[in-house]
Amino acid sequence: MLHPRIIKLIIAISLVTLLLKPNQVHGQGGIVIENAGVAVAFGNSITFTANIKSTLPIQQASLLFREANEEITRVETLQVAEDGAVSFTYDATQNVFPPFSWVLFWFQATLSDGVTYTSDPIKFQYYDDRFPWRQVNRVNVTINWYAGDDSFGASALDAAGSGILAMRDFVPISFDDPIDVYVYSNITDLQSTLVSSSNEWVGAHAHPELGVVLVAIPPSSSQFIEMETKIPHELAHVMLYRSLGENYQRQPAWLIEGIASMVELYPNPDYARAMQIASDNDSLIPFNDLCASFPVDAGSAFLAYAQSQSFVTYIRDSYGTSGLSRLMGAYSEGFNCELGATQALGIPLSQLDIRWRETVLGQNIGGVAARNLLPFLLIMLLVLIVPLWSAIDLLRQRRKNGKQESK
Ligand SMILES: [Zn+2]
Repeated sequence: MLHPRIIKLIIAISLVTLLLKPNQVHGQGGIVIENAGVAVAFGNSITFTANIKSTLPIQQASLLFREANEEITRVETLQVAEDGAVSFTYDATQNVFPPFSWVLFWFQATLSDGVTYTSDPIKFQYYDDRFPWRQVNRVNVTINWYAGDDSFGASALDAAGSGILAMRDFVPISFDDPIDVYVYSNITDLQSTLVSSSNEWVGAHAHPELGVVLVAIPPSSSQFIEMETKIPHELAHVMLYRSLGENYQRQPAWLIEGIASMVELYPNPDYARAMQIASDNDSLIPFNDLCASFPVDAGSAFLAYAQSQSFVTYIRDSYGTSGLSRLMGAYSEGFNCELGATQALGIPLSQLDIRWRETVLGQNIGGVAARNLLPFLLIMLLVLIVPLWSAIDLLRQRRKNGKQESK
């Protein structure tokens, strides 16, 4: 019997070969690429194979490849067999390529005439084929899942639809490009697709530039809550990315995560408590510290999500959805975290932070400030009272003298 991994590999090869249409890929003069193929062992390796045909002897050949959205291209020198066969196996264990991303590869060969010829690029999807994915779709959203029955997939699709309805007031919705939601049945399966530096607690992730959403939701009695929380949140990331384009990266983390958390259909009951505890302990995170990124440790990250959701909701309630749009506009223009708020809402971020603490969490920051000033006020009084007494004394003396003189 064949080992399951080998069977998988064979399936992967045949799938990719089908995708590539195994006819000849013609190079730009000088070389012809035949039988180009890719064998993906997801999370382990990617093996590129081809036959490079040329009229002149090949002096040197290379494989070039990159993820479609990547700036960098990897270049690997190839050993060319006598019949032109080449093969290169890339170590994919670091998950440098996001799951379901598109990878481009092409070949270069320098022939004995000293000229380097380049083939046309070939594209394939780095598909997580470890699971028997099933699909259900509506408009441009496809739910992909492998655990749970038909109703599980239908519920996930409903959660996506409700999420889009809920966010349409403040997130521009795009129905043009497809969005694929992949529902893994557990965190371990999902984690194995993410770069190894990812946080262990991450149970959902979006690759907005790919239109890909990954969530971990086990089929269970709590599946609806998880679907209604995670799917709208990650969809909001994709929609925001599509409306903001490259300005998406300029937005503060608290704003993007706050909006995405605000569209969750099932409010997290622990958020309010986490914030109240932090407020009482004076350990709330200033929003100016949540601009570049969120904390790494799970506890602080949880608080950061809770705060951001509450803060963005407060901004929407105080300044309307147009306030949120102005805020995104200001950050798109390149204003820094503090001043983007001044530009959009007429109040710097740090002041808005104080107002939020006072309004939502009932902090009395004015009172706190006065209490902190008390020692200084006492010293000032002492400093002032001593000369005051002398002054009063002096006045009395003068008045006495004056009275005497007027007599
Ligand atoms: Zn998020």
